[in-house]
Amino acid sequence: MGTDEQVVRYDVDGPVATITLNRPEVANAQNSALIDGLDAAFDRADGDDDVRVVVLGGAGKHFSAGHDLKALVGAEEPDQWVAMRETPEGKFRHEQLMYVERCRKIHDFRKPTIAAVQGKCVAAGLMLACMCDIIVAADDATFSNPVLRMTGAGVELLVEPWEMGIRQAKEFLLAAEEIDAAEAFRLGLVNRVVPRRELAERAGELARRIALVPPITAEVVKASINYVAEVQGQGASWKYHFMAHHWVHNTATALSALEERKQLGSMREVFAARDRGDAPPTSAGSGN
Ligand code: ZN
Repeated sequence: MGTDEQVVRYDVDGPVATITLNRPEVANAQNSALIDGLDAAFDRADGDDDVRVVVLGGAGKHFSAGHDLKALVGAEEPDQWVAMRETPEGKFRHEQLMYVERCRKIHDFRKPTIAAVQGKCVAAGLMLACMCDIIVAADDATFSNPVLRMTGAGVELLVEPWEMGIRQAKEFLLAAEEIDAAEAFRLGLVNRVVPRRELAERAGELARRIALVPPITAEVVKASINYVAEVQGQGASWKYHFMAHHWVHNTATALSALEERKQLGSMREVFAARDRGDAPPTSAGSGN
């Protein structure tokens, strides 16, 4: 894989910075290089007073397939993280630093942010999109968080109840079904749906309009709206969920599923076997 600059592109046009996930060959699966690159790009946008709004997009067919689970067991990742994930406490720390804190930093970013989402937006891809203030979806976008089927207790931040309401979140997560852009709009998960070929243009237009608001006003009102969720308990619920998520990571169910993945080769095989009703070597799959 390339350097941070290659896996995340950064472009500025007037008051709008566009940050682009750039691993289209793996549907912008998030490995450490991509997460670090994203973090650096947001720092750059933060430090540039001419940048008033950030658009976050994904290169290629899909916005993001989620965390790069393959990378985490491969040689591609920094040894430091791979070794850390060998123990429950290390895994907790890794996910806190690389997933929770990095995501929350985007959520709390002082300038307005717009996610421009096309194609698949899955699990941690959805978590990432939801860190942005506004989501513009292409008409080919689909949203899913199938991690429960892999034994994982969702991803690290439980965004769904905040994004679509309690009852819909339960169905979305427990049935682990994919929803399309029109349904995502109906549930309030996305702000608008636009034709795929116009996605960048329409997100840019909206960003330029938001850039007309004086930066300090935009910053204060964004923070104030985020505070509405905060006083409703969003931060506390996310802390609870992250602990619950990790407790599940270390259950016999999840740990034996990791073994099963090794035996069957991939999560796809684990699901296929389970859905066919084959007797599982252990219980189920694993999520990260
Ligand atoms: Zn996890």
